[in-house]
Amino acid sequence: MKIVSVHPHLLDHKLDTAFESASMRFDRRQHVLVEIVCDDGTIGWGECLGPALPNAAVVKAYTPSLIGEDPLNTEIIWQRLYNLFRDQGQRGLTVTALSGIDVALWDIKGKHFGVPVSVLLGGRLREQVRAYATGSFKRDGVDRVTDNAEECAGHVEAGFQAVKIKIGFNPREDIEVIAAVREAIGPDTRLMIDANHGYDVREAVQVGQAAAQYGIDWFEEPVIPEQLSAYRAVREGQPIPVAGGETWHGRFGFKEPLETRSIDIAQPDLCGTGGFSEMRRIADMATLHGIRLVPHVWGTGVQIAASLQFMASQLPDPPRNHPVEPILEFDRTDNPFRQAILKEPIEHQNGIVSIPNGHGLGIDIDHDALAEFALKAETF
Ligand code: CA
Repeated sequence: MKIVSVHPHLLDHKLDTAFESASMRFDRRQHVLVEIVCDDGTIGWGECLGPALPNAAVVKAYTPSLIGEDPLNTEIIWQRLYNLFRDQGQRGLTVTALSGIDVALWDIKGKHFGVPVSVLLGGRLREQVRAYATGSFKRDGVDRVTDNAEECAGHVEAGFQAVKIKIGFNPREDIEVIAAVREAIGPDTRLMIDANHGYDVREAVQVGQAAAQYGIDWFEEPVIPEQLSAYRAVREGQPIPVAGGETWHGRFGFKEPLETRSIDIAQPDLCGTGGFSEMRRIADMATLHGIRLVPHVWGTGVQIAASLQFMASQLPDPPRNHPVEPILEFDRTDNPFRQAILKEPIEHQNGIVSIPNGHGLGIDIDHDALAEFALKAETF
């Protein structure tokens, strides 16, 4: 079995209403899928977290090293590609692009052996997971406090028992938002806050101290990801568990945050941190330190399906009789191609998502949707 071609697919949609987190503005939705074709006709799909065009360029740069290789050699290929750009790579786009390739290779491996990726990872501990609704960005032209409260009430109405909201804009207004959302979702819905590294330590500690009374599950990316001592200062200065890791790449990227206990909850992104190959190692490292791992998920149905395969096999830590179950980040923001690219969309029922049990990632790609949402040359 040999790889014969690699195709990055750039997807694009211009939003009617732009929205922003503390650190990014979204006027368009853009994601990149990776299609790897083998000589026996097997096709694997992956996805890269982060900006679509640069990711696609790096995928193309890796392609000559993939052609003619046996796709089942996932570890050998991972190491070879990582070595290719080590001197200028190690993290960032070199690893996010490698992640999309690795996910596609595991999809091929599952299809080749006729099992879901979760079986290759060691077995399916669960057939479904609870999801939390991610949303509540700052949308143009509306009052953020009432907009976020109404949106989150809608998530609860739809059956979600957990929601995550965006803060990191302005500490005073952020507290107003948190209070309004808690009021809107009632006392029993889990609530998480995500600052997208918008604060400095002083602001993060103030917000954490003020927000704790509203019953917050975790405080995500309070400060910029390079500042590990700042992360620790936030952990020490306020009572809410601190989460982070969506921008830390590979086992080397997670080594110091885990060893120094800079976080309470690690959030590696399967399609950013190095694919299934590296996610397994990071999960083991988190277990070594007794740090909870909750995958970050931000992408299309391909990324959701890949994350679900990982979560199906995610081992409980500690393995008690009624352990803490994984929870899926489920993006509720505007993105018409997120599910349209799947022939069978992965949707929730009352906040619960079933884990596909087909071969590989367990999904079929809708090629009409790929064509419909393909990035047009004039948009870049
Ligand atoms: Ca986040």
